[in-house]
Amino acid sequence: EVLLEVKDLEAKVAETGQMILRGVNLTVREGETHAIMGTNGSGKSTLSKCLVGHPDYEVTSGTVTYKGQNLLDLEPEERARAGLFMSFQSPVEVPGVSNSDFLRLAANARRKQLGQEELGPLEFYGYVMPKLAALKMNPDFLNRDVNANFSGGEKKRNEILQLSVLEADIAVLDEIDSGLDIDALRDVADAVNSLKRPNSATLMVTHYKRLLNYVVPEAVHIMEAGKIIYSGGIEVADILEQDGYEGIKSRMREEA
Ligand code: ADP
Ligand code: MG
Ligand code: MG
Repeated sequence: EVLLEVKDLEAKVAETGQMILRGVNLTVREGETHAIMGTNGSGKSTLSKCLVGHPDYEVTSGTVTYKGQNLLDLEPEERARAGLFMSFQSPVEVPGVSNSDFLRLAANARRKQLGQEELGPLEFYGYVMPKLAALKMNPDFLNRDVNANFSGGEKKRNEILQLSVLEADIAVLDEIDSGLDIDALRDVADAVNSLKRPNSATLMVTHYKRLLNYVVPEAVHIMEAGKIIYSGGIEVADILEQDGYEGIKSRMREEA
């Protein structure tokens, strides 16, 4: 029941050739939530983007196995078809295009890839309402213009709604907690938790322990200079919060 296995992954910026990932190793099993922490510029977003096949990056060595397939052989669309998604913000505000149209478009793109019937506006309503309910989101959300006047928390919850509509098997959430006050953070955390299914997994990039108080991970990884330098349970986030990265380093020295 290993869902995702990353081995010695190295990647560079496609345009400049700058090395970013320098040998990442990570194993994620079904049902698990993993948190990736690390200083700014350590390569967390690059790792996330390499997993979904973002064209800005080129993998130069290592392997990524997802559901037993070589993920790196798959086009980004094929990765999405296989259920691997990164939360994405809607492309700016689109006046006149409702959020429900936007979500239905995304859902139908996935359904088409899966060989399923596309959903008409009414059918989509039936499909999305239980998902909204599970995320405790107001149905009014669907009728508003894409991203127009969304608060920070609403934008984040909308990203999670997208992952729910797409029925992600691995949800990659990059700083889903950034810029949220405590109430919005709790709502977003509840939404992340309600996204979990027994066969799915969540990979969360975050700077802050506070999100992990609500979405409790099985594993916490610390990234530095393009590598995961230390992994453990939730206690790793506690060390980081109390003693910073120096605390992690001294733990590493003690264990060496
Ligand atoms: P993090 O998410 O951990 O803050 P990133 O993965 O965004 O780190 O970036 C890691 C390093 O790679 C940074 O030094 C960043 O400036 C650089 N980098 C990332 N993407 C690009 C890019 N597309 N072009 C140039 N440099 C990049
Ligand atoms: Mg950053
Ligand atoms: Mg980042």
